[in-house]
Amino acid sequence: MSSTVNRVQHTAFIDQYGRQKRKLRISVTDRCNFKCSYCMPEHPEWVKKHHLLSFESLYRFCQFMVQRGIEQIRITGGEPLMRQGVVHFIAQLHRLKQFGLKRISMTTNGHYLGQYALALKQAGLDDLNVSLDSLDEQQFKQLTQKSVCPVLAGIYASQRVGLTVKVNCVLIKNCNENQIVPLTLWAKAHHIELRFIEFMPLDGDQKWSVAQVVTEQDILDELATVFQHIALVGQSHNPARQYIVDGAVVGIISTISHSFCQQCDRLRLTAQGEFYTCLFAEKSVNIKTLLEHLDEHENTTALDTTLTQAIWSKASGFLEIQAQKKDNPRKISMHVMGG
Ligand code: SAM
Ligand code: SF4
Repeated sequence: MSSTVNRVQHTAFIDQYGRQKRKLRISVTDRCNFKCSYCMPEHPEWVKKHHLLSFESLYRFCQFMVQRGIEQIRITGGEPLMRQGVVHFIAQLHRLKQFGLKRISMTTNGHYLGQYALALKQAGLDDLNVSLDSLDEQQFKQLTQKSVCPVLAGIYASQRVGLTVKVNCVLIKNCNENQIVPLTLWAKAHHIELRFIEFMPLDGDQKWSVAQVVTEQDILDELATVFQHIALVGQSHNPARQYIVDGAVVGIISTISHSFCQQCDRLRLTAQGEFYTCLFAEKSVNIKTLLEHLDEHENTTALDTTLTQAIWSKASGFLEIQAQKKDNPRKISMHVMGG
C-alpha cells in the first residue's frame, strides 16, 4: 500500500451533511498519571495492554486515512507520553507528509514534556496543546492531583526546541474561574495562544451539570474587567472561537453554549480501536480486527465500507445527540475518548 499511495484516486470521507473529514484524533492510551476532576473517574478501569491497538495497526490506519483526505493527525490519550513508543510512532507518521498529511499534533498534560520535548520535535511533531487549568499550585493540585511545576517547565522546554505550543484550560464554576485573567496575562507574556474550554458532559463519574459550566459569555465578561479591547476574529474549521484580547490571541471552545458542529471535520479512534465520528456519539464501531488484518498487500475494502457507512451517518451535532439521549447513555469519559 505504501508505495502506491495516491490521494487523487480516492474519494474523501464525507458525511450526510456534506462535511468533509480532514482531522483525525488518535488516543494511544487511556492511562494517565493525572486525575483531573472533570475527566478521570474515581476508579478508572484501564484497558488491558493486549487490547490496545499496536502502533503497527495505528500506522496502517493513518496511512489509509491520509489517502482518504485526512490532513491533520492529533495524538492524544489518556496521557500520550505514557505510552512507550509514541515518539517513534510520530517519526513514522512523519513519512505520511509526502502523501498529503500536513500536521502532526499532540495533546498532553505536559508532565513529561521536559523529558520529551526535543525528541518530539526531532521526530517531526508540529505542535502541542498542553492542558493547564491553573497557575496556582494548590488549585492545580486540587484539580489534577499533580504539581504544576513540571508542566510549566515542559511548556518552556517545548518553546525552546521550537514546538508551537497552545495551552488549554477547562473552566469549572466555583473552582478555577479566578484563573481567566491570570492565565491570559501569563499566556500573553509568554507568546502562547490560550484556549478556554467549556466543561463538557464527558467526565468519568458523570457528575457534570450545566450549572458548573463557565460559558463563553462568562469568560468574556471576566476578561472585560481587565482588558480594554476584545474582538471576535473568527472560527472557521477551528473548534475555538478566536478573540484578540489587547493584542493576545485567546480561543474559547464553547461546545455547550455555541456548538461548532456545523463545521465539524473530525474523526476519532480510541486506544482499543473504537471509531467515533463525534465526541458525543452514542455508538462507535470497533475496527481493531479490521486493522489487524490490514497488511501491506491486503485490500482495504472491508475497512473502507465500514468507515464510509459510519461517517456518512454522523449526526448533525451535539444538540441532536443530546435530544435523542436515552435513559441509559453510554459511559465514556474524555480519558478514553481523547478530547
Ligand atoms: N491527557 C492529555 C491532556 O490532558 O491534555 C490529553 C487527553 S485529555 C482527555 C484532552 C483534552 O480534553 C484536555 O485538554 C482536557 O483538558 C480536555 N478535557 C477532559 N475532560 C474534559 C471535559 N469533561 N470537558 C472539557 N474538556 C475536557
Ligand atoms: Fe489525564 Fe488529560 Fe484526563 Fe487530565 S484531562 S485526567 S491529564 S487524560
